[in-house]
Amino acid sequence: MRESRYKEKKKTLQKITNEIKNCEICNRYKIGQLVPGEGKIDTKIIFLGEAPGLNESKTGHPFIGRSGKFLTKLLLSIGLKREEVFLTSPVKYYPGNRAPKNEEIRHGMIHTSKQIEIIDPKLIVMLGNVALKALFPNEKFKLSKIHGKIIKKEGRIYFPTFHPAAAMRFPKIRKLMEKDFKKLKKLVKRL
Ligand code: URA
Repeated sequence: MRESRYKEKKKTLQKITNEIKNCEICNRYKIGQLVPGEGKIDTKIIFLGEAPGLNESKTGHPFIGRSGKFLTKLLLSIGLKREEVFLTSPVKYYPGNRAPKNEEIRHGMIHTSKQIEIIDPKLIVMLGNVALKALFPNEKFKLSKIHGKIIKKEGRIYFPTFHPAAAMRFPKIRKLMEKDFKKLKKLVKRL
């Protein structure tokens, strides 16, 4: 990427991060710190989760708790370092020990869509149902049926798989997720 384009992208992404940190709604509902997301600016891949957990809300960094460590391992298993991709979630704050509500996902996507637009990845890996619902709100996709299958839309590839927290709780899901990541490895090679 040309130096000037990279600098412009970095500046715009920082502006979006600042918008998230100053967002009235996110600040009203947040527990702990907001977690805008982080990673490589000119990456080809965004990983989209659900919402930050307690550990993330303590530090402001995405995917650093138990499920984040598991995700980091899965990434390494397919030859990717955390620093080579962009990690974020549709919802930018820890909602407490519960799944985010539809209106929280809709609000978070105002920020997330801007991040996606500026990073302009070739591939978005959707980690779990919340990410799937966030990006395809009008589809009746079932994660159990569609995981590991490529969705192509408007020049971009979307890859649904499970959330690492679910894989850690259920050995069956863990196996399926590991299988999905093998497919993902091949896909990433072709990008
Ligand atoms: N789980 C998520 O979905 N997102 C994070 O940022 C951390 C854990």
